[in-house]
Amino acid sequence: EGVAALLGRIGAANPELNAYREVYAEAALARAEAVDRGERSGPLAGVPIASKDVLCYDGGTTACGSRMLRGHRSPFSATCLARLEAAGAIVVGTCNMDEFALGSSTETSAYGPSLNPWDTARVPGGSSGGSAVALAAGLCSAALGTDTGGSIRQPAALCGVVGLKPTYGRISRHGLVACASSLDQVGPFTRTVADAALLLSVMAGDDPLDATTAPLPVEPELADAEAIHRPIRGLRVGLPRQYLDAEANHPAVQRAVERAMGWFRDAGAELVEVDLPHSRFGIPTYYVLMTAEVSSNLARYDGVHFGHRSPERTSGLDAMTRDSRGEAFGDEVKRRIMLGTYALSSGYHDALYERALRVRRLIANDFHRVFGTGGFEPPAASGGGCDVLLCPTTTGTAFKLGEKTDDPLSMYLNDIYTVNANLAGIAGISVPTGLAPAEEDAPELPVGVQLIGPAFGELRLLRAAAMLE
Ligand code: GLN
Repeated sequence: EGVAALLGRIGAANPELNAYREVYAEAALARAEAVDRGERSGPLAGVPIASKDVLCYDGGTTACGSRMLRGHRSPFSATCLARLEAAGAIVVGTCNMDEFALGSSTETSAYGPSLNPWDTARVPGGSSGGSAVALAAGLCSAALGTDTGGSIRQPAALCGVVGLKPTYGRISRHGLVACASSLDQVGPFTRTVADAALLLSVMAGDDPLDATTAPLPVEPELADAEAIHRPIRGLRVGLPRQYLDAEANHPAVQRAVERAMGWFRDAGAELVEVDLPHSRFGIPTYYVLMTAEVSSNLARYDGVHFGHRSPERTSGLDAMTRDSRGEAFGDEVKRRIMLGTYALSSGYHDALYERALRVRRLIANDFHRVFGTGGFEPPAASGGGCDVLLCPTTTGTAFKLGEKTDDPLSMYLNDIYTVNANLAGIAGISVPTGLAPAEEDAPELPVGVQLIGPAFGELRLLRAAAMLE
């Protein structure tokens, strides 16, 4: 009954919001009946979950928001989805996204943008915008996203839900269509921090099918809402000076961070200013490295192996590949492939790609220093540094559809507070803190704050985030 009612709501709301790219109505109903009969059980028995169009699923198509993969059927399911299903969850459909996860608004999707349920004239953020909309509009109980440079945390903030980007290597990327392989990570969108912890506990852990997953135990406390809500005594919260520039941030965002500081202080936390001096190089570093990786990952769409093949019968293999890619990729995908190919070309490789790799290391080292960790490793019991960092997720609230589509640079600047966690491989979460007051041309809109934690420090990060609920 629950799933049937949910499918009814999706049928009514999705034509406008465009949250789901495909709904698996029949399969979802069959699974729900199996739960009712007691044939499917587990910690997520019967929980309807929305996937993202970049995750392979053997029960539906995976188009990556692109014409290139329209109708593509994967013969297997991504590890994260398989683990959710093994825990009893019901995958109700797959959500719209920016084409190949390249964007911050869902406007680069070949299937049209998703609309922000708080104001349908505004974007939900991206690239996992459809997932955030599905959850915020009550069209699922939790959703999956992927975060390469902010694609979970930014839409979570703009839609008023929780969004967790786990540490690189915490959740398997097997079955996640690669965007930028050294940055991509799967994570949950949920209504509460405890739900995010529960989903993480189900999806996390070693996977022989992804050699970059960490063979670390998954803390059982993650699945225990009471443990997540136990306040941390003596919490040290770092305030990165570079992220708290009142001039860069919308006043409502600045106020949200200040309010969160107050809540932490009231709970007995110690607040300390910290420096992340290399963070200001995050955007250029990210956009060199991510485009380089994208240009290489997307080379597989050649008109032969996967996806669209041009019906043009021009002469030769090169022409067929060129026509297929030219017809099926959108403008943003082409822009990234060109930028990345440039950064990797022999004359510029050292000046751009190699240099960006070195700056990436400096950015990561800043974080390791403030967390008191030696490097990319689980935090020691008493590292002496900060437990978490508090900062904005985005500089502002949801922007209007079309507002930034002609200005890629301003679109890229959306990621200013999120990309560094990906470059460092560490964990981050966006937690909703309330609504920004209505303005002349905008209704009340959600605002989130971001907490960043050390590698594999999700348990502490989530417990700190729960203190803001
Ligand atoms: N908005 C960022 C970009 O366009 C991040 C995308 C992502 O995290 N997938 O690259």
